Order: sequence, then structure tokens, then C-alpha cells
Amino acid sequence: MPAVRPAETVAVAEDYLHERGPTLESTHPLALGPVTAPPHTVDGFVKEFLRELNYGQGVPLSRSSLNDQYMALARTVRGYLTARWLETATRRRQSPHKMVGYLSAEYLLGRQLDNALLATDLSAIAEEAMKVCGLELDALRQAEVEPGLGNGGLGRLAACFIDSLATMDAPCVGYGIRYEYGIFKQTFVDGRQVEVPDNWLSMGGPWEIAHPEMEVPVHFGGHVERATADDGRERCTWVPDWSVLGIRYNVMVPGYQNGVVNTLRLWRAIATRAFDLDIFNAGDYASAVRSQTVAENISKVLYPEDSTPQGKELRLQQQYFFVACSIFDFLKHTQPTDLDVRELPERIIFQLNDTHPVIGIPELMRLLIDDYDLTFEEAWAITKQCFAYTCHTLLPEALEVWPVSLMERLLPRHMEIIYQINEVFLAEVREQFPGDELRVRRMSIIGDHPERSVRMAHLATVASVKVNGVAELHSQLLRDKVLADFSEMWPEKFTNVTNGVTPRRFVRQANPFLSKLITDTIGVGWVANLERVRELETYAEDPEFRAKFREVKAANKTRIAAVLERRDGILLPEDHLLDVMVKRLHEYKRQMLKLLHIVTLYEGIISGDLDPATVTPRTVVFGAKAAPGYRMAKEIIFLINSVASVINNDPRVQGKLFIAFPANYNVTLAERLIPAADLSEQISLAGKEASGTGNMKFALNGALTIGTDDGANVEIRKLVGDDNFFLFGMTEPEVADLQARGYRPTEYYESNEKLRRAINLIDSGHFTGGNREAASMVIGDLLYNDRFLVLADYQAYLDAQAEVEAAYADQEAWSRSAILNVARTGFFSSDRSMRDYINRIWHIQTGF
Ligand SMILES: *Cc1c(COP(=O)(O)O)cnc(C)c1O
Repeated sequence: MPAVRPAETVAVAEDYLHERGPTLESTHPLALGPVTAPPHTVDGFVKEFLRELNYGQGVPLSRSSLNDQYMALARTVRGYLTARWLETATRRRQSPHKMVGYLSAEYLLGRQLDNALLATDLSAIAEEAMKVCGLELDALRQAEVEPGLGNGGLGRLAACFIDSLATMDAPCVGYGIRYEYGIFKQTFVDGRQVEVPDNWLSMGGPWEIAHPEMEVPVHFGGHVERATADDGRERCTWVPDWSVLGIRYNVMVPGYQNGVVNTLRLWRAIATRAFDLDIFNAGDYASAVRSQTVAENISKVLYPEDSTPQGKELRLQQQYFFVACSIFDFLKHTQPTDLDVRELPERIIFQLNDTHPVIGIPELMRLLIDDYDLTFEEAWAITKQCFAYTCHTLLPEALEVWPVSLMERLLPRHMEIIYQINEVFLAEVREQFPGDELRVRRMSIIGDHPERSVRMAHLATVASVKVNGVAELHSQLLRDKVLADFSEMWPEKFTNVTNGVTPRRFVRQANPFLSKLITDTIGVGWVANLERVRELETYAEDPEFRAKFREVKAANKTRIAAVLERRDGILLPEDHLLDVMVKRLHEYKRQMLKLLHIVTLYEGIISGDLDPATVTPRTVVFGAKAAPGYRMAKEIIFLINSVASVINNDPRVQGKLFIAFPANYNVTLAERLIPAADLSEQISLAGKEASGTGNMKFALNGALTIGTDDGANVEIRKLVGDDNFFLFGMTEPEVADLQARGYRPTEYYESNEKLRRAINLIDSGHFTGGNREAASMVIGDLLYNDRFLVLADYQAYLDAQAEVEAAYADQEAWSRSAILNVARTGFFSSDRSMRDYINRIWHIQTGF
């Protein structure tokens, strides 16, 4: 058997474990020895694998199914992680420091197997071991259903962050919800999106460890009773009228080859009593299981909304459920029993990933006042130091509010506390801005329109140590616009942390060819220290390196072509400029602008205005899910599919233009698609995309960006340089100005012939089998509303695309730019984002 693993790394890992001293188990007289991972050898791996297959799945190799094999392999790899996980936990318990509780309603994790293999440096060993067993590692990889416990960028960000924190050996527990059904699986039926439930657990979840014995009670409804105690102080008792239990599921979060494994703790809701046996015996089965159904609904399914919250009661139940479990878990299970809650700010910082977990603020207040017997003032002084808030949006409709009536019914004690917080807060506002009652109204945590409701972003801002936006421009707009009153009151509270993505998943795993080229050129250190890719800058001038870089792109195109053929039956041309727009379908992201460009090219060719010989062969790939209730987004999906089916079958544009819209864009597809892209589409209306992280993934993989001055595009452009970025479109102040003057899309339609022709062609029914109705909703909106100024940016976009074509014609220059994109975007590692959070917000220690 070849020695597949560098001996050096094994030694480091084992020394690492050894250095930490004996574990509890190893000092016990009956212990079998220190808790260490199985040996890092092919033989050792095969033995563990067969043990898992035989005793875990209960089948011999000869009769095992693909799922048996996958489960056994996943459990084997998990075994290697477990030793390090126990060790990390023990070490942290022995020397308790301030930790981060990352509270997020979403974690869009993506597949786990590859990530765990990379973290433990077992990829080569596992591959050999599977061969020994007559199996293909790659086939087993494909058997994994990715846990899609998030919608898009926000959930993926949380997943990147916990990866980075483990790699930096930072004490963090990620808290969230174990949705039984994650983000829906998207299929197309006659070009229309049809959602299929994502039953990701149906084949078993090998990465989680359940702890049903450690249940956490969570209460809802009822009323509040108050009584005056002997000390003359009023005490409150919340008398809820129903409860559920939270069951803890741990998922391991391995650091990159550093022996650290952190925890992601997800909560599942179950009923307090399985069902009422008396009712059941009386023959009423439905009633007997009703309470169970109500409880279990809480963690049943992810809300498939992105950028627009749904003000539904179940959603508030989910939010409160996971936050209550998490805070309880932190206080009762991770802290000493004699915890002095006055020390909490030295022990925990809860990071609020958007407003979804903000109900945690009154929850901590409630515990401190009602359970720990502090006064409101004492509790408030502590609570204000324990939270920090990340805002993810600029769209006013995306700012979460909860009707007071709903809050009073579902969480009456919390509503009282929110009123009290508001009273204290507004008194402060009045003191600082005497006589400014308009300001008081604007800033109040309680809003009046259209109904009395709690503004969660205001509550979060008032109670947090720091408030951050997710890119420079976004943080600036938060300070100047969305939360301007607050930043005037507390300027020092506001900060920026530009998002990042993990280089482990999105470069090292996703792009093995590029990774090899980088490692061969500058060594392996870049994976955990991405700024080091800057060393590639000089190689951009080296024709030999550029040729190798092009070979990598070509190989990635071949790979994605194979994936799309197998997955979707799409035959992707491999020799085109690959132009990719993948992200959630939302009007502000402007997929319609991309579609108008395509239709313009197509119309140009078929009308004879555009000489096909001058057109750069181009394949456009879309990937996008629409929220199931978002009608316009679904109409746009239908229109893209309609245009694709006509263009792809029109011989006049054969070899020039091809459109692929694979269904069900997810992390797995992103990992395959992004490394193959030449051009990254980041074309949101300026001032609407808070940051974007897809834009970073593309740049890191050597795609050039065509983009607006929006979100993190601004920072990407600054880093890669104007010459290596295709900027177009209005700036945010120009947008604000045009909207203030009164935007009329028809003026653009009437004055721009190409635009008129493209819109008319769509409107004529050319792409929809002659049916003019089929596109009317989208076209009507573009002409008479166009909230996101698609038509206003159309000509600038065409011009920028013409620049793209010209640039692509010079492959040497293009490769140079692409290499510089890789070399200059190390800043966008989520390790750097985490460093910023640690230094500016959390003030925690790492690596102790
Ligand atoms: C990165 C990512 C996103 C976010 O993409 P944006 O372009 O930033 O909106 C959404 N979905 C998946 C699956 C991703 O990997």
C-alpha cells in the first residue's frame, strides 16, 4: 500500500493530542487508553469502515447498499473527528474563557463528508481504503444528501463562519434549528418551478449525535401573575399554557487539520407527552396526537423565504424555540452550577445573525429577573453586554416586525419586558434629544403602522454592544439611512465586518485543480492563511503559469459539463465563455437584466443586425430558487426557461449562444459550477445587495466580475483593480437621485431601440409558444413599475458586456486578470471576517 499521507502531518496531529495531557478517560483505572482517533493508515481505516458497516449498518460488504456504504464511511470519518471533539470540549471545560454563542436560524452546510475528510487529512487514505474494499470514494460522496438548513447567503455565511472559528481554535457554539425538512428541492415542470420537500434525513443522518435525555422545556402562551414579595419588590410568574421540549443534536465542526472540533448544536422540538393515552384509549386518535403534531411542527420545516420575512406565528415559535433552548443550554449545561450571572458578559457573547434570534434579548432578561431574581436595572445592565447584532439587509420590507397582539398571545412576559426596555430606552432618547418627539416615534421599538408591532431591528440595536453591516457600503448605508437615528445616538456602536467565505470548501475542496496549481507554486500554507495567495501576483506575468491556469479552467468546464449532463441532461458546450448567474431569484438581484442581455444578443443575430462571426460564443448558466409564494420571481423563472428552450433549439444561434438553467441550485452545485466560470454576474441594483458572498467565491476561483457598485463588489473591485473588473451601472446616490426625481421606465423603453426590440420580442410571445399572456406580468412590471431600475441600467450593462467580449478575445490578458483576481482576493476568507469579529466585537481569546 502506498504511503498516502505525509508522515509529518500525522506526527503533528498526534503530538497535538499528546501535548494536551491525559484525558479523564485515560486516567481511569478501567480506561482502555487515551481517547485518540483510529490510526491514520489505510489498514486502520479499512478496519474501522468494515466495523461500521458490519456492526453499525448490520450488513456484510457483499450485501451492502450504496447507502449502507455511505453511512459506514461517514461514521468512520466521524469516528476520527470524535476523539478530537471530546478533546476540544475537555480542554475548553478545564480552562473556561469567554465564548461565542452564534445564534442563527439557518446553516446552509452543504455536504459534510468531503469537508470532514479534508479537515482530518484523510482524503487520500479514504480513497485507497475504499479501493481496497472494491468501492469508489467518488460514488460514495455523491450518495450524500446535503443538509440544506438555510435559504441562501445568510445561512451559508453562518456555515462559513463556524468553519473558520474551528480553524482558528476559537471557542464557539453555533446554535440553530434541526429542521426535519430543509430548503425545498426545486424541479421544473414545463418550465415552472415546482417545490418538492427536502427529506434530507430519510436515509439517516450520520453526522449528528442526538441527546434525547438532555431535554429543554420551552413554554408558550398563558398569562403573567404578579405578587409583592416580603422585600416589597414585585415578582412576576409566567404561567404558560403550553410547552414543548427541545432535544439537542450535536454536529461536529472540524477545524482545518488542527485537531480542533467545535460544536454546532441544533434543536428539535418534540411534545412533552408523546400522546395522551386516555384520549387514545377512548378512541380519539386524532386528538391524542394533536399536541404532538403542534409541537413537532415547530422544527418541521425551514421557511423558504429569502430577503422577505413572513410574519407567521409558526416562524415566531421557531425563533423563540431555538433561542430559548440555546440560552438555557448555555446557562445550565455549559456553565458551572454556581455561576454568578453578573459575570455573564465575561463568559458569553451571543451574535445575532440578523433579527431572527432577537427574541433572545427579552428571554435573557426574563431569566435574569424571574429566575435569578435580579432587578430590571441589573438584568438590563448585563443583557446589554451579552449581544451583538449583524444586520443583513437594506430592503425596508425585509426588516422583521411582529404584531404586538401576536407577541402578547404567544410570549406575554416577553412583551412586558420589551415595553419596559422601550420605556427606559425612549427616556434616554428624550434626554439626549429634548423636545424631538418625531425622533422618539421613529426610534421606538414599538411601531404603529400598519398595526402596533415590535421592530426587531430596533430592539436588537438598542440591546447590542455592537451593530455591524456586512460590507463597507452596506455598513455606511446602515449608519446613514436605515439606522441613522441610532448611529447619531451611539456612533461608536456601529461597525463593519465584511463577509467572507471559507477557502477550505470554496477553493480547496471545490477546485482541486486550482488548489494543486497554487500549492505547487507557493506551498500549502494558503489554505489556512488565504492572504498568502498574493504570492501568485507575479505569476500572472508568467506565460507558462497562465497556460496552466487556463488548463485548470478547461478541466473545470469539462467537469461541470459531465455533472450537468448526469444531473440535468444538459449538454453544455465546453469551449464557450462561461457566464454564470447563480443566487436566489429576487427582483433586486436583477436576473431580468441578464435575460434582456441574452435576448438582445439573440434578437441581434436573428434580425441580421449582428454578424454572428463577431459574437463571442457564450453559455449562460442560471441557478436560482424562488420563494414558493413569490409570484414575480416564479414568473421570471418560467420566462428564463422559455427563452432557454427557444434559443437552445434555434439553429441560427447554434454555437453562439446557449442557456443552461439546472434546477435546484444548492451548495453542491455551487462547488462544481463556480470553479468553471469565466464571468461572474453580480448585477444587483446599487444599494440593495448588502454584501453578497457568491461574488467572493467566483473571484477566488478566477472568474472576472461584471458588477454594479454594490455590496462587497465595491471591495472586490478595489482589491483586484479597475482593469480586472467590469463595472457598470448607477451608483447608490444616483439611484436615490433618479428615484427622487421620479423614475419612468417607459422613457428608456422608448428611447432605446435595442431595449425596445428585446422587450417586444418577449412580449410578442416568441418564447412562449405564441402566448403573449405568459410574459405579461414580468413585462408589465418592467415597463410600468421596475422598482429595481432594470431598464435604467440596461444600456450600461450592454456596454460592459461588449467590453467583456473584447477582453475575452485576448486570452493572455484575460488569464492575467483572472489570476490577479485569485491573487488579490485573499481578504475574502471568512477567517479574516472572524478575526474582525474577534477584534472589533467579541474580544475573545483563541487557542488556549
Ligand atoms: C454562496 C451561496 C449563496 C449566496 O449567493 P449570493 O450571490 O451572494 O446571493 C446562495 N446559495 C448558495 C447555495 C450559495 O452557495
